[in-house]
Amino acid sequence: MNIPIKLQDQTAARTLVGKVALVTGSTSGIGLGIARALAAAGADVVLNGLGAPEEIGRTREQIVADFGVGASYSPADMSKPKSIAEMIAATVAQAGRLDILVNNAGIQHVAPLEQFPVEKWDQILAINLSSAFHTTRLALPAMRQNGFGRVINIASAHALVGSPFKAAYVAAKHGIVGLTKVTALETAEEGITCNAICPGYVYTPLVEAQIDGQAKAHGISRDQVIRDVLLAQQPNKRFATVEEIGSLAVFLSTDAAASITGIALPVDGGWTAH
Ligand code: NAD
Repeated sequence: MNIPIKLQDQTAARTLVGKVALVTGSTSGIGLGIARALAAAGADVVLNGLGAPEEIGRTREQIVADFGVGASYSPADMSKPKSIAEMIAATVAQAGRLDILVNNAGIQHVAPLEQFPVEKWDQILAINLSSAFHTTRLALPAMRQNGFGRVINIASAHALVGSPFKAAYVAAKHGIVGLTKVTALETAEEGITCNAICPGYVYTPLVEAQIDGQAKAHGISRDQVIRDVLLAQQPNKRFATVEEIGSLAVFLSTDAAASITGIALPVDGGWTAH
């Protein structure tokens, strides 16, 4: 008999028991999806990101209840190198190890180049790019000590192609692919891999929040907004899901992916095949 396999079941093989994973920006969206997928595979997780403390507490408790793993939280601000250093030090001190680092925290701002606010440029470069430099340089010693490590950078289709009005985001995401390659080369003989995942549009609360507004602004239906505005560049005309990105992060964290390093893997329904 053919029993359909749900995505969650694929990660339930518990291949990551005993591993400790830190996911930046994991209080919502893709980061939370990745943290839950890693926890489903048995890893203890450290959450990070902005949000109401009670809600973050509930998210953390839910992960413990659903997957029987440890889950802690760091409020570190990814635009501040000092907070990042404290977060990595506290993680290694408390857990005694750090095996999987997912650099996911990210923000966006849309404006033409001449009007792009300088402070927004600085903030996007700090959160979307420099934070990954800081977390990685500080996490590598703990990974080297165990001869095992996985660094997964959440880039974007915008790491591979540009779009108008997104100068800082596109520059930061292209930059993180460069950082991914250098990290992979410097760690290649040490059981450590570093890869970038490049999603197209992923269905997150952030995306959902745009649909009704765009429908009103353009005077079109929700379905038209999704197909003709948001997914205009995405040939398969469907959003990727946080579960799909989570499953890929789990796979990249396993021994099966030991030879995959330095890549930028599109998960974009064909967008960058154009
Ligand atoms: P989101 O807004 O739901 O999540 C962003 C996370 O980053 C949140 O947890 C937020 O609290 C955290 N964050 C923001 N600023 C921070 C700071 N200064 N310090 C610490 N944490 C901070 O967005 P998302 O859609 O889940 O995006 C997550 C990542 O995926 C981003 O890097 C984004 O560029 C990338 N991405 C998203 C999509 C998409 O369609 N949603 C597509 C491609 C790439």
